[in-house]
Amino acid sequence: MPELPEVTTTVRGLNEVLQKLTIKNVWSDYFLRTTSKSKISIKNKKYFDHFKKEISGEKFLSAERRGKNILIHLTGGKTILIHMKMTGHLLYGKYYFKNGKWKSDEELLSDPFNQFIHLTFSLSNGKHLAFSDMRKFAKVILFETAKRSDLVDLEPLGPEPLQDLSFDTFKKQINTKKGKKIKTVLMDQTVLAGIGNIYSDEILWASSIHPERKTEKISDSDLKTMWINMKKILESGIEMGGDSMSDYRNIYGQKGNFQNAHKVYRRTKQKCLKKGCGGTILRKVIGGRSAHFCSKHQK
Ligand SMILES: [Zn+2]
Repeated sequence: MPELPEVTTTVRGLNEVLQKLTIKNVWSDYFLRTTSKSKISIKNKKYFDHFKKEISGEKFLSAERRGKNILIHLTGGKTILIHMKMTGHLLYGKYYFKNGKWKSDEELLSDPFNQFIHLTFSLSNGKHLAFSDMRKFAKVILFETAKRSDLVDLEPLGPEPLQDLSFDTFKKQINTKKGKKIKTVLMDQTVLAGIGNIYSDEILWASSIHPERKTEKISDSDLKTMWINMKKILESGIEMGGDSMSDYRNIYGQKGNFQNAHKVYRRTKQKCLKKGCGGTILRKVIGGRSAHFCSKHQK
């Protein structure tokens, strides 16, 4: 699932290409086979019709990230929220519709992972913003920009790890989950916004902390190491254009590089890369998610 660095990469891309463009039309087939029970979902035909009507003719102002959510601000005081969930990613380029499918002749957009287009926005420059979502788990909704503080998707989110998050605030947030395993706490969006499975594994490996260590058993000095590694690792994820071990691609359809920098994530049974450690990477399900960690140096 796209995490903070991937969502940041997408948002940066959107800000590069979308500003001042007008939405001419909106298409989706999300609701064709299954209709969402939720009334506020573009997987519901009635909601999609409303969504389409509300945003057609509006201009893009800017995009921003909050946690793992993409917020696309439009004229008319409207904002689109997109949560890419497992396999969703936005793509930008020249598309055409043929035999019931959106196609592009651009090489990067022809990547097999970019072929699951379930939503498109036709733009005033003749190009499209397309949303590829193989498993169709993504969330797309429209809200009034002024009402963002009421939104259940945004309101409970914890602080942003890369926005002047002081050590004291970091410590306070972690300690709101006493008795819980640190792996689960790092991925809890109400504690910190934007960290998921990949980056939590990498942060804990770099900090020599076992994913099942309880929060209250982590010393201040270990917490400080974690706080520093968290910033460093998320920043390097952004620098590398995100992680494309799975479906993620940037808006041009291109892979990021963080998957080539993994020290622990999905390195099960391989030798630990920490100098002189000699441990082996193990995998264990913790809180419903696969944690990867070293048998030796993470305690
Ligand atoms: Zn190790």
